[in-house]
Amino acid sequence: MAKITKLDDIVSLCKRRGFIFQSSEIYGGLASCYDYGPLGVELKNNVKKAWWKAVVQMRDDIVGLDCSILMHPLVWKASGHAEKFADLIAECKKCNTRTRVDHLAEHAEEHTEHISLDKAIAATHDLSNKVCPACGKVGQFTEPMPFKLMFETQMGANVDDSMTLYLRPETAQGIFANFRNVLDTTRIKIPFGIAQIGKSFRNEVTTKAFIFRTREFEQAEIEFFCEPGTDEHWYEHWKKARFDWYTDLGLKKQNLRFRDHDPDEMAHYAKACVDVEYKFPFGSGDWQELEGIANRTDYDLRRHQRGIRTLNSWYESRGDLAKIDLKEEAEDYLKGPLSYFDDQAKKRYIPYVIEPSAGVDRSALAFLVDAYDEEEVRGEKRNLLRFHPALAPVKVAVFPLVKRDGMPEIARNIYNNLKGRFNCFYDHAGAVGRRYRRQDEAGTPFCVTVDGQTKQDATVTVRERDSMEQVRVSTDKLLNHLRERLEV
Ligand code: ATP
Repeated sequence: MAKITKLDDIVSLCKRRGFIFQSSEIYGGLASCYDYGPLGVELKNNVKKAWWKAVVQMRDDIVGLDCSILMHPLVWKASGHAEKFADLIAECKKCNTRTRVDHLAEHAEEHTEHISLDKAIAATHDLSNKVCPACGKVGQFTEPMPFKLMFETQMGANVDDSMTLYLRPETAQGIFANFRNVLDTTRIKIPFGIAQIGKSFRNEVTTKAFIFRTREFEQAEIEFFCEPGTDEHWYEHWKKARFDWYTDLGLKKQNLRFRDHDPDEMAHYAKACVDVEYKFPFGSGDWQELEGIANRTDYDLRRHQRGIRTLNSWYESRGDLAKIDLKEEAEDYLKGPLSYFDDQAKKRYIPYVIEPSAGVDRSALAFLVDAYDEEEVRGEKRNLLRFHPALAPVKVAVFPLVKRDGMPEIARNIYNNLKGRFNCFYDHAGAVGRRYRRQDEAGTPFCVTVDGQTKQDATVTVRERDSMEQVRVSTDKLLNHLRERLEV
């Protein structure tokens, strides 16, 4: 059983073993930004590889994309983010700390892109008996107010032609903006999806939850386009596919659940929305969102269909998004590049969209916490990370038993032969028992040891991390032995 019960434990574990460091630590650190160390970057890359393999490589109905972070400002007008992507916050009058209202009051609206700002502010939020998480004072909060979450930046060197852009707060909009490009350059037909992994940025109010909530993070998103009327089928399909992805990669079923959004929690255009939640073992053992799956109807493509018609007024208003009106020209919304013509049924429609939207950092954290284990072996504590082989940062460690009798040369040779296939690690320092323990702590599934017998019969010891079982394998069968167990 994992023994991690405090966030601090996981933070120190990550630091100690080179998984995750505070950003700019030598300068005192930068709040809510983190760097992935040697083992962390392998884990995170493996999470992304496993996601890409499951949703792009193994499926015939999804293609990939990699969009730029900076996009035309009208994208954010059409998506609603420019005006509404804000958190509702309240400030403590005693210590001036700002806190998200939904973290203080139950059933409060979360991001206000889901509803109008007026409605969010007008909703009754009784904060009179709420405790400030920073100073502990009760009922000292201001009225709730919106706090915009998008980071702004300037593009262009000249004052006259420079314009305000936003760091994308989600990767999804780049997919919608490329819907027509993908249709025109591939032979894919509806139902199909577009998948993307990339960085997103949000000026989050509440952080302090390690890599669970940061201001720069990575998302793995799919927009799955389908014919209206088939959307409920695809929603159920994606719920199952995404839940299975986490459990297939080793997350324990009892730590994973669905949480359906209440109707008043959902965006007005969404037909259904569910979170995949993980039971992080910190503090009170909170269920927290890993991924959201939403039936977004035809909202996004319709909004962009309207957005691209506002280009002229954007130029006329010299880029002032507030002056641009996105009113719908009701009758002809089907005209335009974001509709789809079904040439078999001979009909044109705006596709519905099912969006499974996962956080790469949150998933990596959940896989790490879930894999952590402690046990007693012959009176000694053994710490290990029981990673699924696909996620393990290092797959195979190779050791010579001792640094003489030709063993290092043979071990190096084996290491050189294996490292083109798997991420391997060579270690000759210290007692072999301690080397095994170090690899257990890094979550390495197999250790290969060259010993005295190797020279006699060309066999090595292969030790498996979880069971600690050791078997002798002849060196010419070693690659296959490992492949069968690692490439699962
Ligand atoms: P939350 O309620 O936790 O703020 P959200 O509902 O705003 O999340 P979405 O907009 O649905 O999140 O984004 C999809 C996924 O992106 C989330 O499920 C999460 O895994 C990840 N994500 C969102 N915001 C952050 C963040 N600030 N840091 C790390 N991951 C994030």
